[in-house]
Amino acid sequence: MPSITSIHTQDVRFPTSLELDGSDAVNVDPDYSAAYVVIRTDAGDEGHGFVFSCGRGNEIITHAIDSYAALLRGRDIDELIYDLGNASKRLIHDSQLRWLGPEKGVTQMAAGALVSALWDIRARRENKPLWLLLSEMPAEEIVDVVDFTHIRDALNPQQALDILRAGEDGKVARIASLKADGYPAYTTSPGWLGYSDEKLVRLSKEAAADGFSMIKLKVGGDINDDRRRMALARQAVGGLPIAIDANQRWEVSEAIEWVNQLAEFNPYWIEEPTSTDDILGHADIRKGVAPVRVATGEAVASRIVFKQLLQAGSIDVLQLDSTRVGGVNENIAILLLAAKFGVPVCPHAGGVGLCELVQHFSFFDYAAITGTQDNRMIEYVDHLHEHFAEPVRITNGRYAAPQLPGTGAEMLSASRSRWEFPGGAGWAEVGTRAAVTGATLAQAGGAR
Ligand SMILES: [Mg+2]
Repeated sequence: MPSITSIHTQDVRFPTSLELDGSDAVNVDPDYSAAYVVIRTDAGDEGHGFVFSCGRGNEIITHAIDSYAALLRGRDIDELIYDLGNASKRLIHDSQLRWLGPEKGVTQMAAGALVSALWDIRARRENKPLWLLLSEMPAEEIVDVVDFTHIRDALNPQQALDILRAGEDGKVARIASLKADGYPAYTTSPGWLGYSDEKLVRLSKEAAADGFSMIKLKVGGDINDDRRRMALARQAVGGLPIAIDANQRWEVSEAIEWVNQLAEFNPYWIEEPTSTDDILGHADIRKGVAPVRVATGEAVASRIVFKQLLQAGSIDVLQLDSTRVGGVNENIAILLLAAKFGVPVCPHAGGVGLCELVQHFSFFDYAAITGTQDNRMIEYVDHLHEHFAEPVRITNGRYAAPQLPGTGAEMLSASRSRWEFPGGAGWAEVGTRAAVTGATLAQAGGAR
């Protein structure tokens, strides 16, 4: 039997803090990072997966992946990749490791990287990009990979099957249209908090000219700055939707007051207004800022929390994140929950590699679940794509359909070597200038 012979992890980090790319009210100096894993078998299979993080602590996730990897080494690969529902459950519900979550945080993300790496092998075996593999998979098999534990009160297997059966109508035509025309994108690139007004205006105009469906600005540092930046952006893009994102900065009442002070600029949604765990707080904010929509999800830990956000009427837009939860399986569960409640999914992307991964879920959602692109778009940020085997392609403000077999996770081995932390050649050149190295050396008594 073909079996798993090696599972290799790498702590890969990029010094994005040098340019303040990705800076917001909470994440002031991220060094975009990937806790990366490659699974190999003696049949020649190779499956890639990773978890995104903001720099320090990436080694913790890498170690956690190693802990879960011990459960997979030597196992029959066919048994795993042709029964991905059970493969996922055996990792995620491991009787000892689950104490560290359960089903949240570092361990869930680490297990998810391995689950997704197994999907990468399955998709490569079938010679299809993940979105097409999922879209053409029988509805019964999709239902079979979903873990309905603790969500059955909102979505049971029969209801999931009904949603997928309904999605079969017109699916072939939708797959063809995705291959021809792609899927709408919006861009966050103009709106990082660390950018100057001049850069904000220039990038906003470029985004509108490039055909993006929306731009997004980071807010929540200073209300006067936010009002000035919103006015500049509104002037730059005219009637194009502008979303705002506070990255969990506010208390509930503060969120309502702050957003209402920006209401005259007609924000499309307010993203992460408060703690990602505050389900009822989001419901209050939603009532307090209507008609501005409330969006969250990039830091929501599991399908169970998403279930409650949906049940409590807390969100207008669901922003799943491909590496925050337990891999491909849990993302499918979240897509189906959103469909059940009729809430559009606009996935979180950016970071490093999140665009490459998350596009597959929106393509699958359109082809086989909701059959619509109304009020739906995938986040786009134009950083670090050159490090991937198949960088995302944006044409006329839309994601073009990924074509390479697999999940999109494969990062070039040269990039992984160069930016492996702390010993890679890239880091030797950066020295103490990036946030992650500066802080490390400052603590050790070095000058910054
Ligand atoms: Mg965000």
